[in-house]
Order: sequence, then C-alpha cells, then structure tokens
Amino acid sequence: MFRVGLTGGIGSGKSAAAGYFRELGIHVVDADWAARVVVQPGRPALEQIAQHFGANVLLESGELDRAQLRALVFDNSEERTWLEGLLHPLIREEIINSLEQSTSTYAILESPLLIESGQHELVDRICVVDLPESLQLERASARDVNHPEQIRKIMAAQLSRQERLAKADDVLDNTAGLVELRSQIEALHQKYLQLAKP
Ligand code: ATP
Repeated sequence: MFRVGLTGGIGSGKSAAAGYFRELGIHVVDADWAARVVVQPGRPALEQIAQHFGANVLLESGELDRAQLRALVFDNSEERTWLEGLLHPLIREEIINSLEQSTSTYAILESPLLIESGQHELVDRICVVDLPESLQLERASARDVNHPEQIRKIMAAQLSRQERLAKADDVLDNTAGLVELRSQIEALHQKYLQLAKP
C-alpha cells in the first residue's frame, strides 16, 4: 500500500487539503484523531495518565481534560517526555491499524508532527502544506480562540518552515485561496495514482 504523509504547521491548511483528498476517494488517517482515540475512557492509557497526574486531569464525564493536560506538560520537559513515552507507541499502533484498513489506491496520513514524532517512517512520501509564517499565524488566529502569542509558541515548538520544506517530496503552496489548493491536489492525486501502481 502506497502511503503519503501530509504535514504542515498549525493553521497551514492540512485539514482543508485532507478534505479534498477524501473527496477524491482517498482514505485519510488523521494522527490527531488517533491521539484522541488512545486516551478515550476505557483505554489503559487514560488510567495511567490519571494515576500519574492526578484525577484533576479528568473531566466530570470521565474523559481526559486535554487543555489541563496540555497546560501541565507544556513547560515541563520531564513530564512531557513521560507522556510522549506512553502515548507515541499507542498512537503509532492506532495509525498503523487504521492505514491497514484502507481500500483506496493509496492512503494519506495527516499529521501536524509527522516528522517531529517519527511518524514519517510509516509513509513512502512526505507532502508539505506550505505558506509564509505570517499568513499561517493570521489564519490560525482567525480560526482559533487561541491568543496569537499561544499560536506563536506552538509554531516555535514545531519544525520551522525551512526544516519542514527540506524534508518534503511534494509541496502544496497554500498561499492563495482554496480553489488553487484544490487544483494542486488534483494534480498531485494523479501523480500518486501513478506512483501507487504496482
Ligand atoms: P491545525 O494543525 O491547527 O489543525 P490545519 O493545518 O489543519 O491546522 P486548516 O484548519 O485546514 O489548517 O486551516 C486553517 C484555517 O485556515 C481554517 O480556518 C481554514 O478554513 C483556513 N484556510 C485553509 N486554507 C485556506 C486558503 N487557501 N485560503 C483561505 N483560508 C484557508
């Protein structure tokens, strides 16, 4: 099965790009979805997290308080390392299972931290959604309730634009509008169909 990793910084347009690939009938696995699944109530990881950080990381519903957990680990590299050690292998397993369920000609793994997390080892090719950092900040700020300062911090924790581009096999330029993004995806889709041929 031919697999493409789709990545880009916060607010770059990964979800928009993934949506167009889905419309073309391509199976898309979302790494953020996998990260949520592994900490659902009933999963052993949630129990371990609650034991480690205390019950205050749980909402009344018994679900993980993701904002609370994020706040606890954001500036604490030791706790972040512990959490990543627990979750990364589980997320990887969830992604592999979901990729294996694909019946489309090729499959896409959409992940904001594709390269940073080592998930790029699961794919044959890396496609980067690219745009100037100022536009990225503008779009992410317009979409999120997050303060621009918070978005800047997230951008600083992700690979830089140059580092990401250096790893790219294909680049989707998302500087212009969604119509332009879509037409680039249609061209790339044709290329991937060819590459996926046995
Ligand atoms: P995140 O990693 O934060 O989830 P993302 O990379 O998935 O972000 P999107 O949610 O797809 O990014 O896009 C960010 C915002 O920018 C959204 O509100 C989206 O509608 C908008 N957007 C994406 N591409 C374009 C575009 N070409 N023109 C205008 N707005 C766009």
